[in-house]
Amino acid sequence: MSWPSRRRVLQAGLVSLADLLVEGPLSREARAESRRGIFDAHLHTPSENGELFQWHQITKTMPDFVAYLDKCGVRRGVISAARSNTAREPDSYRAGNREVARYAERWRGRFRPSCVVTPFRIEEALREIEECATQLGFLWIGEFCNYMTGYRYDTPEWKSVMELAARLNLVVQIHTNTAEMRFLADTFPSNTIVFPHFGGNTKDIFERIAIVAAHPNTLIDVSGSGIERVGILERAVGEIGADRVLYGSDFTINEPSAVIARVRNAFLTAADREKILYGNLDRLLARAGRK
Ligand SMILES: [Zn+2]
Repeated sequence: MSWPSRRRVLQAGLVSLADLLVEGPLSREARAESRRGIFDAHLHTPSENGELFQWHQITKTMPDFVAYLDKCGVRRGVISAARSNTAREPDSYRAGNREVARYAERWRGRFRPSCVVTPFRIEEALREIEECATQLGFLWIGEFCNYMTGYRYDTPEWKSVMELAARLNLVVQIHTNTAEMRFLADTFPSNTIVFPHFGGNTKDIFERIAIVAAHPNTLIDVSGSGIERVGILERAVGEIGADRVLYGSDFTINEPSAVIARVRNAFLTAADREKILYGNLDRLLARAGRK
């Protein structure tokens, strides 16, 4: 099927974006390489309205974003739009989610789109998640960051988000403090939950590793604070097991190559490093979505 006709099929909602990701004009070798390459579980794209998560802004456009990932050796990633995280109105997060759907289409095989909503107008938020999953083939929602717009995870509205995600078999990525993390892991055993970040101090880091270790439906992505402390990754793999630890960078905020260097230099087996850098995320996405 040629690309324009696929686009029409996609627009008609007859196949999911995920179906399209496995085909395309790439050579067989390029597809194989793309499947094997480092897969980042935590990327925030610059938005077309100028929103960008970066403390001093240097990668302002999507081509800048892609070029920087190339420089770092990141071949694939799960992307969410900055503007969806800061949205207070459904129109804003819908625009961000459509952006990442377009990016995933343009850089086919490279990016998997993630849907982010804010749960203030819950019916519209649920409709958006359902539409992204069933019409656009999204397999992932989040990273949810409740502190950005001021909502809580212990509400009936949030429960309905988690229940919908479980029903649609979507991976949910949620930024939390340690108490919120424990609450979500205990309360939603039917969801596949990715918790980003080890934490900022030893108490938090060790507790967050212990929570993931105790809840088999959860995973940790190693982005943010903590990974730079030598030994923390080894402790996580020792307690949790290598199957539930994901490489993630939190780019455009943080530097991907520093995280990759720590994983590559870690006192782990080659097989475990491969699981962390791409194998676990491949497996997680292969199991997500339609059952
Ligand atoms: Zn993030």
